[in-house]
Amino acid sequence: MPELPEVETVKRALEPVLAGRRIRRMEIICGSLRAPVRSDLPELVANRQVKEVTRRAKYILARFGHGTMGIHLGMSGTIRIEPARAALRKHDHVQWLLPAGVALRYHDPRRFGMVFWSDGDAEHERVANSGVEPLGPAFNAALLAKLCAATARPIKLLLMDSAKIAGIGNIYASEALFRARVSPLRPAKKLARPEAAALVRSCKAVLRAAIKAGGSSLRDHRYGDDRLGYFQLQHKVYGKAGESCPACSFPIARVVLGQRATFLCPHCQR
Ligand SMILES: [Zn+2]
Repeated sequence: MPELPEVETVKRALEPVLAGRRIRRMEIICGSLRAPVRSDLPELVANRQVKEVTRRAKYILARFGHGTMGIHLGMSGTIRIEPARAALRKHDHVQWLLPAGVALRYHDPRRFGMVFWSDGDAEHERVANSGVEPLGPAFNAALLAKLCAATARPIKLLLMDSAKIAGIGNIYASEALFRARVSPLRPAKKLARPEAAALVRSCKAVLRAAIKAGGSSLRDHRYGDDRLGYFQLQHKVYGKAGESCPACSFPIARVVLGQRATFLCPHCQR
């Protein structure tokens, strides 16, 4: 599932192709995604110029003068930038035709993604209800300490609660907790203030490192590569059960928390 750094990478790839350009035509091939794509969306965006491409939480937002088109990649969504003359593939559900024979194609085998619209300056409800942006200044030790004090849930589940903190998924939550030396199982309430501060720093650091890795994957990105935004970051604990902890050599453990595989060093993380 794409997490914040992957979405940021896709946004950065779309920016030079979309921002300042006019969408010639939009086509809905199959609009039954997680929420149905509005059938009048093609009319709303046809021959309109995209003013700006931004990201909020895991939503990619194309701002027009008269509203905003949002894209969420769901579980398996990808966007390809390719020549419009290239054949559509199975599971290509929406396409946008741009000047100079370029097409953007939204591909999503599991169809958990979304393409939506909000009028004027209003933010779509889904976007407006997102939690704090983890790379922004509002995500700081004071805020995390406040969120922690309010819940006895394990800290990893709080980090992954997108209504509280946007876009930190399973992989980056595991990695950030390892760097901060905090066990994912620790009740959030029991976090000391310096630990909250360390965890904020480590969340920002792992996300930034992943965005940087995504940026380098973009430089190597071939035109029409359908894995836009997916890249391999060197994980320290995620997916490494049984391997040696890079800090202390103790074997990395795998536990299941909130139905998700969680990786930790039981020696370093308390
Ligand atoms: Zn260790």
